[in-house]
Amino acid sequence: PSGEPPEPLRRVSGNNYDPDNENSDRINATILSLVRNEELHDILQSMRDLERTWNHKFNYPWTFFNDVPFTEEFKEKTTAATKAKTSYHLVPKEHWEIPSWINMDLYHESVALLRAQKVQYMEKTSYHQMCRWNSGLFSQHPALATTQYYWRVEPNVHFFCDVDYDVFGWMQDHNKTYGFNINIYDSAESVATLWPETMKFMKDHPEYLNEGNALKWLEDGSHRPDNKKTANGYSTCHFWSNFEVGDLSFWRSEAYRDYFDHLDRSGGFFYERWGDAPVHSVALGLFEDKSKIHWFRDIGYQHIPFFNCPTSPKCTGCQGGRFTDGAAWLQREDCRPVWFKHVGMD
Ligand code: GDP
Ligand code: MN
Repeated sequence: PSGEPPEPLRRVSGNNYDPDNENSDRINATILSLVRNEELHDILQSMRDLERTWNHKFNYPWTFFNDVPFTEEFKEKTTAATKAKTSYHLVPKEHWEIPSWINMDLYHESVALLRAQKVQYMEKTSYHQMCRWNSGLFSQHPALATTQYYWRVEPNVHFFCDVDYDVFGWMQDHNKTYGFNINIYDSAESVATLWPETMKFMKDHPEYLNEGNALKWLEDGSHRPDNKKTANGYSTCHFWSNFEVGDLSFWRSEAYRDYFDHLDRSGGFFYERWGDAPVHSVALGLFEDKSKIHWFRDIGYQHIPFFNCPTSPKCTGCQGGRFTDGAAWLQREDCRPVWFKHVGMD
Protein backbone atom coordinates (compact mmCIF):
# COMPACT_ATOMS: atom_id res chain seq x y z
CA PRO A 1 0.00 0.00 0.00
CA SER A 2 1.12 3.52 -0.70
CA GLY A 3 0.78 5.60 2.44
CA GLU A 4 1.84 9.21 2.44
CA PRO A 5 5.52 8.99 3.26
CA PRO A 6 6.34 11.16 6.26
CA GLU A 7 8.58 14.11 5.61
CA PRO A 8 11.81 13.49 7.47
CA LEU A 9 13.23 16.03 9.91
CA ARG A 10 10.59 18.52 8.96
CA ARG A 11 10.68 20.50 12.15
CA VAL A 12 14.17 19.93 13.44
CA SER A 13 16.34 23.04 13.59
CA GLY A 14 19.33 22.84 15.90
CA ASN A 15 18.76 22.13 19.55
CA ASN A 16 15.24 23.30 19.79
CA TYR A 17 13.90 19.96 21.01
CA ASP A 18 15.91 20.13 24.22
CA PRO A 19 13.80 18.87 27.11
CA ASP A 20 13.92 22.22 28.93
CA ASN A 21 13.53 24.49 25.92
CA GLU A 22 10.30 26.42 26.41
CA ASN A 23 10.42 27.58 22.79
CA SER A 24 11.04 24.16 21.27
CA ASP A 25 9.22 22.95 18.15
CA ARG A 26 7.44 20.34 20.25
CA ILE A 27 3.73 20.61 19.94
CA ASN A 28 1.22 20.05 22.73
CA ALA A 29 1.56 16.30 23.14
CA THR A 30 2.65 13.52 25.47
CA ILE A 31 3.58 9.88 25.45
CA LEU A 32 1.26 8.14 27.89
CA SER A 33 1.10 4.83 29.63
CA LEU A 34 -1.32 3.16 31.99
CA VAL A 35 0.88 0.71 33.81
CA ARG A 36 1.23 -1.31 37.02
CA ASN A 37 4.13 -1.09 39.44
CA GLU A 38 4.84 -4.79 38.80
CA GLU A 39 5.44 -3.94 35.14
CA LEU A 40 8.39 -1.64 35.83
CA HIS A 41 10.87 -3.89 34.05
CA ASP A 42 8.56 -4.19 31.04
CA ILE A 43 7.82 -0.49 30.70
CA LEU A 44 11.56 0.21 30.90
CA GLN A 45 11.96 -2.09 27.89
CA SER A 46 9.35 -0.08 25.95
CA MET A 47 10.92 3.21 27.01
CA ARG A 48 14.40 2.12 25.97
CA ASP A 49 13.16 1.24 22.49
CA LEU A 50 11.05 4.35 21.93
CA GLU A 51 13.73 6.65 23.33
CA ARG A 52 16.43 5.05 21.19
CA THR A 53 14.47 5.05 17.94
CA TRP A 54 12.59 8.34 18.29
CA ASN A 55 12.11 10.29 21.47
CA HIS A 56 15.72 11.12 22.32
CA LYS A 57 15.51 13.47 19.32
CA PHE A 58 12.27 15.14 20.35
CA ASN A 59 11.95 14.74 24.12
CA TYR A 60 8.20 14.54 24.41
CA PRO A 61 7.18 14.12 28.04
CA TRP A 62 6.07 10.78 29.44
CA THR A 63 2.82 10.74 31.45
CA PHE A 64 2.18 7.65 33.58
CA PHE A 65 -1.17 6.54 35.00
CA ASN A 66 -2.00 3.92 37.59
CA ASP A 67 -5.03 2.91 39.63
CA VAL A 68 -2.76 2.67 42.71
CA PRO A 69 0.11 5.01 43.65
CA PHE A 70 3.40 4.47 41.83
CA THR A 71 6.28 3.28 43.97
CA GLU A 72 9.36 5.46 44.43
CA GLU A 73 11.37 2.85 42.58
CA PHE A 74 9.00 3.04 39.61
CA LYS A 75 9.24 6.81 39.47
CA GLU A 76 13.02 6.89 39.87
CA LYS A 77 13.78 4.26 37.26
CA THR A 78 11.39 5.56 34.63
CA THR A 79 12.59 9.13 35.15
CA ALA A 80 16.16 7.90 34.71
CA ALA A 81 15.20 6.24 31.42
CA THR A 82 14.60 9.51 29.56
CA LYS A 83 15.93 13.07 29.28
CA ALA A 84 12.35 14.22 28.80
CA LYS A 85 10.01 15.21 31.60
CA THR A 86 8.03 12.54 33.41
CA SER A 87 4.90 12.79 35.53
CA TYR A 88 2.86 10.29 37.53
CA HIS A 89 -0.86 10.31 38.11
CA LEU A 90 -3.50 8.36 39.93
CA VAL A 91 -6.66 7.35 38.08
CA PRO A 92 -9.62 8.85 40.01
CA LYS A 93 -11.66 6.16 41.77
CA GLU A 94 -14.83 7.21 39.95
CA HIS A 95 -13.05 6.48 36.66
CA TRP A 96 -11.94 3.02 37.72
CA GLU A 97 -14.49 1.44 40.04
CA ILE A 98 -17.29 -0.64 38.59
CA PRO A 99 -20.12 1.84 37.98
CA SER A 100 -23.15 1.75 40.28
CA TRP A 101 -25.54 0.70 37.51
CA ILE A 102 -23.78 -2.60 36.92
CA ASN A 103 -25.75 -5.50 38.35
CA MET A 104 -23.10 -7.61 40.05
CA ASP A 105 -25.14 -10.85 39.93
CA LEU A 106 -25.55 -10.41 36.20
CA TYR A 107 -21.84 -9.58 35.92
CA HIS A 108 -20.83 -12.83 37.64
CA GLU A 109 -23.25 -14.87 35.53
CA SER A 110 -21.92 -13.23 32.38
CA VAL A 111 -18.35 -13.97 33.38
CA ALA A 112 -19.18 -17.67 33.82
CA LEU A 113 -21.04 -17.76 30.50
CA LEU A 114 -18.40 -16.05 28.39
CA ARG A 115 -15.54 -17.87 30.07
CA ALA A 116 -17.14 -21.04 28.83
CA GLN A 117 -17.02 -19.48 25.36
CA LYS A 118 -13.30 -18.87 25.85
CA VAL A 119 -13.43 -15.08 25.90
CA GLN A 120 -9.92 -14.11 26.94
CA TYR A 121 -9.59 -12.16 30.25
CA MET A 122 -13.36 -12.41 30.89
CA GLU A 123 -12.76 -13.44 34.51
CA LYS A 124 -10.32 -10.60 35.22
CA THR A 125 -12.26 -7.66 36.67
CA SER A 126 -9.31 -5.27 36.37
CA TYR A 127 -9.14 -6.05 32.65
CA HIS A 128 -12.73 -4.87 32.19
CA GLN A 129 -11.90 -1.73 34.19
CA MET A 130 -8.80 -1.09 32.10
CA CYS A 131 -10.74 -1.47 28.83
CA ARG A 132 -13.43 0.93 30.04
CA TRP A 133 -10.84 3.48 31.15
CA ASN A 134 -8.95 3.30 27.88
CA SER A 135 -12.20 3.54 25.95
CA GLY A 136 -13.68 6.63 27.45
CA LEU A 137 -12.00 7.90 30.58
CA PHE A 138 -8.30 8.42 29.91
CA SER A 139 -9.14 11.50 27.84
CA GLN A 140 -11.04 12.93 30.82
CA HIS A 141 -8.10 12.71 33.21
CA PRO A 142 -7.27 16.15 34.67
CA ALA A 143 -3.56 15.60 33.96
CA LEU A 144 -4.35 15.68 30.22
CA ALA A 145 -6.76 18.62 30.36
CA THR A 146 -4.49 20.89 28.34
CA THR A 147 -2.89 18.18 26.16
CA GLN A 148 -3.92 17.63 22.55
CA TYR A 149 -2.03 14.67 21.11
CA TYR A 150 -0.94 11.43 22.78
CA TRP A 151 1.05 8.33 21.92
CA ARG A 152 -0.02 5.31 23.90
CA VAL A 153 2.75 2.94 24.95
CA GLU A 154 2.36 -0.36 26.79
CA PRO A 155 4.87 -2.35 28.81
CA ASN A 156 7.03 -4.85 26.93
CA VAL A 157 6.51 -3.56 23.41
CA HIS A 158 9.32 -3.18 20.89
CA PHE A 159 10.17 -0.42 18.43
CA PHE A 160 12.60 -1.39 15.68
CA CYS A 161 13.08 1.52 13.30
CA ASP A 162 14.71 4.92 13.51
CA VAL A 163 12.04 7.55 13.06
CA ASP A 164 13.57 10.92 12.23
CA TYR A 165 10.59 13.25 12.21
CA ASP A 166 8.35 14.70 14.89
CA VAL A 167 5.47 12.22 14.75
CA PHE A 168 3.12 14.52 16.65
CA GLY A 169 4.05 17.50 14.51
CA TRP A 170 3.41 15.37 11.43
CA MET A 171 -0.08 14.45 12.71
CA GLN A 172 -0.86 18.10 13.23
CA ASP A 173 0.59 19.28 9.90
CA HIS A 174 -1.40 16.62 8.03
CA ASN A 175 -4.60 17.11 9.95
CA LYS A 176 -4.69 13.51 11.21
CA THR A 177 -6.87 12.39 14.10
CA TYR A 178 -5.58 8.90 14.65
CA GLY A 179 -2.56 6.81 13.76
CA PHE A 180 -2.40 3.02 13.99
CA ASN A 181 0.13 0.34 13.35
CA ILE A 182 -1.59 -3.07 13.35
CA ASN A 183 -5.14 -4.06 12.42
CA ILE A 184 -6.63 -7.39 13.59
CA TYR A 185 -9.92 -9.18 14.25
CA ASP A 186 -11.39 -9.70 17.70
CA SER A 187 -13.28 -12.66 19.09
CA ALA A 188 -16.91 -12.16 18.12
CA GLU A 189 -18.11 -13.30 21.56
CA SER A 190 -16.24 -10.50 23.38
CA VAL A 191 -18.25 -7.80 21.55
CA ALA A 192 -21.46 -9.65 20.63
CA THR A 193 -23.81 -6.76 21.41
CA LEU A 194 -21.48 -3.86 20.61
CA TRP A 195 -22.81 -3.45 17.07
CA PRO A 196 -26.54 -3.75 17.94
CA GLU A 197 -25.97 -1.23 20.76
CA THR A 198 -24.12 1.04 18.33
CA MET A 199 -26.95 0.81 15.79
CA LYS A 200 -29.43 1.83 18.49
CA PHE A 201 -27.28 4.84 19.25
CA MET A 202 -26.95 5.81 15.59
CA LYS A 203 -30.71 5.65 15.15
CA ASP A 204 -31.03 8.34 17.81
CA HIS A 205 -28.04 10.31 16.49
CA PRO A 206 -27.83 10.05 12.71
CA GLU A 207 -26.24 13.52 12.73
CA TYR A 208 -23.02 12.05 14.17
CA LEU A 209 -22.30 9.90 11.12
CA ASN A 210 -19.39 11.50 9.26
CA GLU A 211 -19.76 11.92 5.51
CA GLY A 212 -16.37 10.33 5.01
CA ASN A 213 -17.11 7.43 7.38
CA ALA A 214 -15.74 3.90 7.13
CA LEU A 215 -19.02 2.14 7.87
CA LYS A 216 -18.48 -0.31 5.00
CA TRP A 217 -15.14 -1.30 6.50
CA LEU A 218 -16.71 -1.94 9.89
CA GLU A 219 -19.33 -4.19 8.32
CA ASP A 220 -17.07 -6.04 5.89
CA GLY A 221 -16.74 -9.53 7.37
CA SER A 222 -15.93 -11.14 4.04
CA HIS A 223 -12.29 -11.70 4.97
CA ARG A 224 -12.85 -13.07 8.45
CA PRO A 225 -11.14 -16.43 8.87
CA ASP A 226 -13.90 -18.21 10.80
CA ASN A 227 -16.51 -18.68 8.07
CA LYS A 228 -17.24 -14.98 7.78
CA LYS A 229 -18.93 -14.92 11.19
CA THR A 230 -19.23 -11.31 12.31
CA ALA A 231 -20.19 -10.02 15.74
CA ASN A 232 -23.85 -9.39 14.82
CA GLY A 233 -22.85 -7.22 11.89
CA TYR A 234 -19.45 -5.87 12.99
CA SER A 235 -16.50 -7.56 11.33
CA THR A 236 -14.49 -6.97 14.56
CA CYS A 237 -11.58 -5.60 12.52
CA HIS A 238 -9.99 -2.98 14.76
CA PHE A 239 -6.95 -0.77 15.15
CA TRP A 240 -4.86 -2.56 17.76
CA SER A 241 -4.91 0.05 20.48
CA ASN A 242 -1.80 -0.88 22.43
CA PHE A 243 -0.29 1.42 19.80
CA GLU A 244 -2.19 4.66 19.25
CA VAL A 245 -1.10 8.13 18.23
CA GLY A 246 -4.14 10.31 18.49
CA ASP A 247 -5.79 13.66 18.90
CA LEU A 248 -7.59 13.84 22.24
CA SER A 249 -10.12 16.27 20.77
CA PHE A 250 -11.79 13.32 19.08
CA TRP A 251 -12.30 11.44 22.36
CA ARG A 252 -13.63 14.66 23.89
CA SER A 253 -16.03 15.47 21.05
CA GLU A 254 -19.75 15.57 21.74
CA ALA A 255 -20.33 12.60 19.44
CA TYR A 256 -17.80 10.42 21.22
CA ARG A 257 -18.84 11.48 24.74
CA ASP A 258 -22.48 10.65 23.95
CA TYR A 259 -21.49 7.37 22.34
CA PHE A 260 -19.26 6.31 25.21
CA ASP A 261 -21.93 7.18 27.78
CA HIS A 262 -24.45 5.14 25.83
CA LEU A 263 -22.12 2.14 25.70
CA ASP A 264 -21.15 2.54 29.34
CA ARG A 265 -24.78 2.61 30.48
CA SER A 266 -25.53 -0.51 28.47
CA GLY A 267 -23.05 -2.43 30.66
CA GLY A 268 -21.14 -4.18 27.87
CA PHE A 269 -17.74 -3.37 29.36
CA PHE A 270 -18.70 -5.82 32.14
CA TYR A 271 -21.45 -8.15 30.86
CA GLU A 272 -19.33 -8.76 27.80
CA ARG A 273 -15.67 -7.86 27.44
CA TRP A 274 -15.68 -4.93 25.08
CA GLY A 275 -12.14 -3.89 24.39
CA ASP A 276 -11.07 -0.29 23.99
CA ALA A 277 -9.71 -1.23 20.56
CA PRO A 278 -13.06 -2.21 18.99
CA VAL A 279 -14.83 0.66 20.77
CA HIS A 280 -12.30 3.21 19.50
CA SER A 281 -12.32 1.68 16.04
CA VAL A 282 -16.11 1.68 15.69
CA ALA A 283 -16.25 5.31 16.82
CA LEU A 284 -13.50 6.35 14.41
CA GLY A 285 -15.18 4.45 11.58
CA LEU A 286 -18.48 6.26 12.18
CA PHE A 287 -17.66 9.75 13.45
CA GLU A 288 -14.39 10.57 11.70
CA ASP A 289 -13.41 11.06 8.10
CA LYS A 290 -11.40 8.00 7.10
CA SER A 291 -8.77 10.17 5.42
CA LYS A 292 -7.82 11.40 8.90
CA ILE A 293 -6.73 7.93 9.99
CA HIS A 294 -3.13 7.11 9.23
CA TRP A 295 -1.23 3.82 9.06
CA PHE A 296 2.26 4.29 10.50
CA ARG A 297 3.86 1.76 8.20
CA ASP A 298 7.29 3.21 8.99
CA ILE A 299 7.15 2.57 12.75
CA GLY A 300 8.46 -0.95 13.29
CA TYR A 301 6.56 -2.34 16.22
CA GLN A 302 5.81 -5.48 18.16
CA HIS A 303 3.34 -6.28 20.87
CA ILE A 304 3.27 -10.02 21.35
CA PRO A 305 2.26 -11.87 19.23
CA PHE A 306 2.04 -9.41 16.30
CA PHE A 307 4.61 -7.37 14.39
CA ASN A 308 4.70 -4.52 11.94
CA CYS A 309 8.05 -4.83 10.19
CA PRO A 310 8.86 -2.34 7.43
CA THR A 311 11.54 -3.32 4.97
CA SER A 312 13.99 -0.50 5.52
CA PRO A 313 17.65 0.05 6.41
CA LYS A 314 16.36 2.16 9.31
CA CYS A 315 15.10 -0.99 11.04
CA THR A 316 17.02 -3.50 13.10
CA GLY A 317 15.82 -6.58 14.93
CA CYS A 318 12.40 -6.75 13.37
CA GLN A 319 11.46 -10.09 11.88
CA GLY A 320 11.72 -9.01 8.28
CA GLY A 321 8.12 -8.91 7.09
CA ARG A 322 4.59 -8.51 8.24
CA PHE A 323 3.28 -11.06 10.70
CA THR A 324 6.43 -12.99 10.12
CA ASP A 325 6.11 -15.41 12.97
CA GLY A 326 5.14 -17.89 10.25
CA ALA A 327 2.12 -19.27 12.05
CA ALA A 328 -0.87 -19.36 9.74
CA TRP A 329 -3.28 -18.21 12.43
CA LEU A 330 -1.28 -15.02 12.92
CA GLN A 331 -1.52 -14.24 9.23
CA ARG A 332 -5.25 -14.83 9.19
CA GLU A 333 -5.83 -12.35 12.01
CA ASP A 334 -4.34 -9.49 9.96
CA CYS A 335 -7.18 -7.36 8.59
CA ARG A 336 -5.08 -4.48 7.29
CA PRO A 337 -5.88 -5.44 3.67
CA VAL A 338 -9.59 -4.86 4.41
CA TRP A 339 -8.83 -1.37 5.69
CA PHE A 340 -6.65 -0.63 2.66
CA LYS A 341 -9.42 -1.85 0.38
CA HIS A 342 -11.96 0.51 1.94
CA VAL A 343 -9.72 3.56 2.00
CA GLY A 344 -8.56 2.96 -1.54
CA MET A 345 -4.93 2.02 -0.88
CA ASP A 346 -3.78 -1.10 -2.71
P1 GDP B 1 -3.21 -7.05 26.74
O1 GDP B 1 -2.21 -6.28 25.94
O2 GDP B 1 -4.58 -6.99 26.15
O3 GDP B 1 -2.79 -8.43 27.08
O4 GDP B 1 -3.40 -6.28 28.16
P2 GDP B 1 -2.28 -5.69 29.13
O5 GDP B 1 -2.15 -6.56 30.32
O6 GDP B 1 -1.04 -5.35 28.38
O7 GDP B 1 -3.00 -4.33 29.60
C1 GDP B 1 -3.16 -3.24 28.74
C2 GDP B 1 -2.55 -2.00 29.36
O8 GDP B 1 -3.22 -1.65 30.55
C3 GDP B 1 -1.09 -2.16 29.75
O9 GDP B 1 -0.47 -0.89 29.59
C4 GDP B 1 -1.15 -2.52 31.21
O10 GDP B 1 0.00 -2.12 31.90
C5 GDP B 1 -2.35 -1.72 31.67
N1 GDP B 1 -3.14 -2.36 32.74
C6 GDP B 1 -3.92 -3.46 32.66
N2 GDP B 1 -4.53 -3.72 33.82
C7 GDP B 1 -4.12 -2.76 34.70
C8 GDP B 1 -4.38 -2.50 36.07
O11 GDP B 1 -5.15 -3.19 36.73
N3 GDP B 1 -3.76 -1.41 36.62
C9 GDP B 1 -2.90 -0.62 35.90
N4 GDP B 1 -2.33 0.41 36.51
N5 GDP B 1 -2.64 -0.85 34.61
C10 GDP B 1 -3.22 -1.90 34.00
MN1 MN C 1 -0.44 -5.41 26.37
